Amino acid sequence: MADQTTDGLLERLAEGPVICAEGYLFELERRGFLQAGAFVPEVVVEHPEKVAQLHREFVWAGSDVVEAFTYYAHREKLRLIGKEHMLERLNRDALQIAKDVARESSSLLAGDICNSNVYESGNQASADQVREMFTEQVGWAVDAGVDFIIGETFSYAEEALVALEVVREAGLPAVITLAFHQEPVTREGWSVAEAGKRLAGAGADVVGLNCIRGPRTMLPLLEELVPAVDVPVAALPVPYRTHPAEPSFQSLRDPTQPASHRPFPVALDPFTCTRNEIADFTVAARELGVSYLGVCCGAGPHHIRAMAEALGRTPPASRYTADMSKHAFLGSDSSLRQHNLAFGTKEL
Ligand SMILES: [Zn+2]
Repeated sequence: MADQTTDGLLERLAEGPVICAEGYLFELERRGFLQAGAFVPEVVVEHPEKVAQLHREFVWAGSDVVEAFTYYAHREKLRLIGKEHMLERLNRDALQIAKDVARESSSLLAGDICNSNVYESGNQASADQVREMFTEQVGWAVDAGVDFIIGETFSYAEEALVALEVVREAGLPAVITLAFHQEPVTREGWSVAEAGKRLAGAGADVVGLNCIRGPRTMLPLLEELVPAVDVPVAALPVPYRTHPAEPSFQSLRDPTQPASHRPFPVALDPFTCTRNEIADFTVAARELGVSYLGVCCGAGPHHIRAMAEALGRTPPASRYTADMSKHAFLGSDSSLRQHNLAFGTKEL
């Protein structure tokens, strides 16, 4: 346990919604400490203070969970960049950084495993290799004393099932989230309801969706998933304005650019959801019955604060939530100067 006095994930979910901020890859890339492309979180070793700082900012904004930044810190990714020797240190350091922040803030501490990019449906050797990759990462998370493990961004539900088995063997609660691309089925062709049922049936404590789809194109899938399962449902969209014709953030196209231009992953800025859109998503997802909420790649602390406030909370960052009443030109405070307010009405 991150803190012996706090409830675990399942107790907290029984009492109400839980927020888990994600999106560390994209945010640290924007800040200049992580390279897009391979997207390996070397920042954990090279600039650990930046990772700790982002954990703290997300907690300050309302996240109930500190998720160790081990996304893509698996053997396949480290092999890709020729640094397999760094694998264990990277994982253990990421877990320790997250643990320190969780302890100082009474947040839950989560370990993280994710899509391997090795798994191939119908290929037993790939399943065995993936199981080994998950087993070593989950082992390090167990050593760190995590409260639960997140297995995320699986587009093969079968790979998610392997992850779930490994987490269950370790005796920890499992939050398993799938990533749906343009088609509303997993890569092996299962519907969201089918995949959710299989995962819940195999013992997942929370099942849901993360990444790839923005709020607008994730909600219809949640509508199918929630009634299909009898466990808490998770929803962590990317904060981008995906829509039915371009349902994933990889499929978004910028009308100001040539047709060959793909905004994903480093030119998605014009599609970013406002904090208000994330608040609206939070309300809509809650109405559907979703109880584990977050934002994935592209999330900033302002999105997490909006999510927390949409749930009726006032995290520490709410101290700085916008108050336009004292704005010189657009405000309503009686001490404001009339000539500026008149100018604001006419010219702004
Ligand atoms: Zn993501």
